[in-house]
Amino acid sequence: MQPMPLPAGTSWFSRTSIDACLDAYTEPFLNDYFRANFYHLKGRDLDLVVDAGMGLAPLMPMLRLTPGKPVLAVATHIHADHVGSLHEFAERAGPRAEAEAFAAMDDHWTFADEFRNLAQPVSRLPSLGWTAETYRIEPAPLTHILGEGDRIDLGERSFLVLELPGHSSGCIGLYDERDGLLFSGDAVYDDTLIDDMWCSDGDDYRATMRRLMDIPVRIVHGGHGDPFGAARLKEIAQDYIDRP
Ligand SMILES: [Zn+2]
Repeated sequence: MQPMPLPAGTSWFSRTSIDACLDAYTEPFLNDYFRANFYHLKGRDLDLVVDAGMGLAPLMPMLRLTPGKPVLAVATHIHADHVGSLHEFAERAGPRAEAEAFAAMDDHWTFADEFRNLAQPVSRLPSLGWTAETYRIEPAPLTHILGEGDRIDLGERSFLVLELPGHSSGCIGLYDERDGLLFSGDAVYDDTLIDDMWCSDGDDYRATMRRLMDIPVRIVHGGHGDPFGAARLKEIAQDYIDRP
């Protein structure tokens, strides 16, 4: 059965204000498996957008941006649910290990074909006449390539780039060591972790989890699920390491 259109006045995206500087977004009418979190953090000199949803509706107009202020969009990895609207941003950063693939956004890298093949990709239509069969991710060649130890400076605070492979080879996290905020993408989140794709590696994932256990986070904002603190991070990491 064809889903209904969005109710009048309803956005495709939902926004949650975490604090005065940080908004979290998701796509409530999207299939659960592809429903990711993405974030807009206002810095003093630069705004950071962490991940960019599926690209089913324009994301930029939904963000509370300041006209004229620079924005850097960072993809934590190249999967469809994180890079769909990346092309809307002029400044686009992503991980070195997957960097070249952003110029083409092939299904092989993004798994967009899995989305097209879902029985129920959306519960409401993102726009009139929308169909999953024609879904493609717009190419978004990176303008900045990120690797371990790189820093993103927002003015009053900065984020260290952590390479956290396992879910995919490219997975990165952004960590503000002063504040303890970690944007973890799909490296770690409080829901079922996925490590059975061609781009996954269990040994890398275990090493990432051992590393994450020692990071003194205050809060983790992941690619899926709710935010969590240091104790839960240790539990999730230990559970993964203990998987048979
Ligand atoms: Zn992913």
